Amino acid sequence: MLGFPTDKHTQVCGTLDEVNNFREKILNLRQQLPYEIDGVVVQVNDREIFKRLGVVGKAPRGAIAFKFAAKKATTVVEEIKIQVGRQGNLTPVAVMRPVEVGGVTITHASLHNEDEIKRLGLKIGDTVVVQRAGDVIPQIVEVLPKMRSGKEKTFHMPTVCPVCGFKAERQMISEGGEKGTALICSNRRCPAKDLKQLEHLVNAFEIYTIGPKILARFKDEGLITDAADIFTLKKEDLVGLERFGEKSAENIISSINSHKIINLAKFIQALGILHVGEETAIDLAAHFGSLEKLKAASFEEIDSIPNIGGAVAKSLYDYFQDKRHLDFIERLIQAGVKLQVTSYKLPAKTGPPAGKKVGVTGMLESMSREEAKAAVREAGGDWVSSVSKNTDYVVAGESAGSKLAKAKALGVRVLNEKQFLDIIKR
Ligand SMILES: [Zn+2]
Repeated sequence: MLGFPTDKHTQVCGTLDEVNNFREKILNLRQQLPYEIDGVVVQVNDREIFKRLGVVGKAPRGAIAFKFAAKKATTVVEEIKIQVGRQGNLTPVAVMRPVEVGGVTITHASLHNEDEIKRLGLKIGDTVVVQRAGDVIPQIVEVLPKMRSGKEKTFHMPTVCPVCGFKAERQMISEGGEKGTALICSNRRCPAKDLKQLEHLVNAFEIYTIGPKILARFKDEGLITDAADIFTLKKEDLVGLERFGEKSAENIISSINSHKIINLAKFIQALGILHVGEETAIDLAAHFGSLEKLKAASFEEIDSIPNIGGAVAKSLYDYFQDKRHLDFIERLIQAGVKLQVTSYKLPAKTGPPAGKKVGVTGMLESMSREEAKAAVREAGGDWVSSVSKNTDYVVAGESAGSKLAKAKALGVRVLNEKQFLDIIKR
């Protein structure tokens, strides 16, 4: 016992039946609990096995949420609106007749994309079953075609952005391992996109006195054109606005000033780079340690960081190749934004592969590709996905492919799995 508070209901189960019974027991207790829950978590109770099971994306295989069935209700979809997101993505949102689900009144549900509308077979005016996914996010789960009157209308995604009128383009996207197409506003300076980016940045800087409405107002009044302008706002600028008191102007300015210092990970997150969320920003801050190094990084280097996939690496690399983005960052710094030196612990670079470029070809018996990548990094080495004459070691596993032939041709040292485990001290 290390003194951490644990939940008194926690239980070790020996069989799947016991797990089911436990969930059933908690479901019955649910109403009496002093907090909201949406299920239980089943976790492997052995740290070694937990580690061996590995991680998919950010989710460990050794722990899963075993959720309760969500509460449902029926209502009518009165309208489908288009929302423009931070990346300019056009998302259809169902506007529904207010209905209570699990104690909360629901009026909107995201429909994600056109494919989802087709999958549901949803028309405007349809009666639908809604639930709160994970008991939080409203979701349309089913359309009830028998309730149709014949007045329902088929919905079509717009061909232009509803905010700026630019052409909407279909793009391939991959999010959380799921691939699909999305409609994106083709205007790089779309006001809706800008506003969402502004909101995102203000949140990352934790300037909570400026909500979406105030931001929109600042923009409409011409006080700001982009986020860098927020940091140069003065009290006098705000006091001049209609219905804007001296007190709230003061609050906002002091809140801005007290949040100008930000750590590197939060700053990276604040930039709102496509595919780069909080976790990725932390990984990047830990790896690079400074914004300068991240800006100068090659695609290969970004791609070699554990947990960072090709699409994310490309998005990051492209972002910092764009002069407008570099100018924007420069303006933030000029406006007084200061990056705090972060103290993310990097693995000590002392192991034999320290500073060496290591690649793997074929299948290893003792670990997955992702685990090998992490092990190389932990030992202070650099993971490479392709072989060049600068590669120090290539580890050849079962059915090694062209990478092995290339390594041999280039005279790169080839290790078998046992030699590899030796140098990473496993
Ligand atoms: Zn637009």
